[in-house]
Amino acid sequence: MYVSKEILNLVPYSPGKPVEETQREYGLEQVYKLASNENPLGVGAKVKEALMRAINDVNRYPDASFYEMKSILAKYYAVKEDRLTFGNGSNELIDLLIRIYCEPGDSILTSEHAFIAYKLCAQGARVATKEVPMGKDLRFNLEEISKQIEESNKVRLVFIANPNNPTGTYVTESEIEQLLAQHKDNENILFILDEAYNEFVREKDYPDSLKLIKKYNNLVVMRTLSKVYGLAGLRVGALIAPPEVIDLVNRVRNPFNVNSLAQVAAIAAVSDQDYLKASQKVIWEGLDFFMEEFSKMGVKYWPSQANFILFDCGRPGAEVFQELLKKGVIMRPVTGYGLPHCLRLSVGVPEENQRAIKALAEVL
Ligand SMILES: *Cc1c(COP(=O)(O)O)cnc(C)c1O
Repeated sequence: MYVSKEILNLVPYSPGKPVEETQREYGLEQVYKLASNENPLGVGAKVKEALMRAINDVNRYPDASFYEMKSILAKYYAVKEDRLTFGNGSNELIDLLIRIYCEPGDSILTSEHAFIAYKLCAQGARVATKEVPMGKDLRFNLEEISKQIEESNKVRLVFIANPNNPTGTYVTESEIEQLLAQHKDNENILFILDEAYNEFVREKDYPDSLKLIKKYNNLVVMRTLSKVYGLAGLRVGALIAPPEVIDLVNRVRNPFNVNSLAQVAAIAAVSDQDYLKASQKVIWEGLDFFMEEFSKMGVKYWPSQANFILFDCGRPGAEVFQELLKKGVIMRPVTGYGLPHCLRLSVGVPEENQRAIKALAEVL
């Protein structure tokens, strides 16, 4: 049967290498996974308790209207409930937005070295991806993005990961405001700020996106419970957008896209601010540790506002990745992101971080 070339050419997303697989292949007992930007503190006690209770109701379908989760998370984000909906992780929200706003022949616009899900979701919908280059600083170039919007009448969605994965770099409030102001009345375009790592940002000129959405009608914001809140395995992403956009997403999404355990866990997670603070603390201390060690070792890295850090191996990252595996440390190759000499490592707890640096010092 006929299948379009976009579908035939799809290369599946390559996730971080699993711990068990590495143990098996290399005959190792102790393996440290610093590959998937997961929360190294494990599941929070409040989430665990809530999940235990909710187990008794999994014979029931989930709440398709997200009644309780929406009410709690609307308060948490300080937005009105009609401006909020949820996806099976923000990954599904990316998919849904592309399905809603793009038709074959249209394009999405993002940056080179941007989070790869945008391109994969677009391709799956037979939608093209335009990418503008980054400079050596590996930051989104919003001026180039603005030019591309003016030059093309095919662009429907603009994806800006802030901070970006895998670079860890961010765009400032004044940069983003300038872009939004230039395209304020453009109703044919939607800007998507993907803020998966929002809670890890320490720089003061990082945009307050929830303030910006009040001013710009063609701006939406995505958040996730996968990172700082440690729910990567349960899949909850939040979309904050004008009511018209939310309405469309609610019509297109599968009614039970966020399962009942995930909904219960999300409510417990945002109610546990001690876990949030502990997560931030461990990541910030770990990042400072890596930046200091990299500086001592003369390893080039890009200062990160997220829970991971990108560094330059000075030789093919895939080789270094393999050598690190033998030492029981899993990092993330980023060749698929157009960064063949780099690796990305996720910040762990102090013991994991020390192991990672020890292994890197031996390998590099
Ligand atoms: C991890 C990540 C997400 C979150 O994905 P989920 O589907 O919510 O787990 C979104 N955007 C970026 C840039 C990410 O790195």
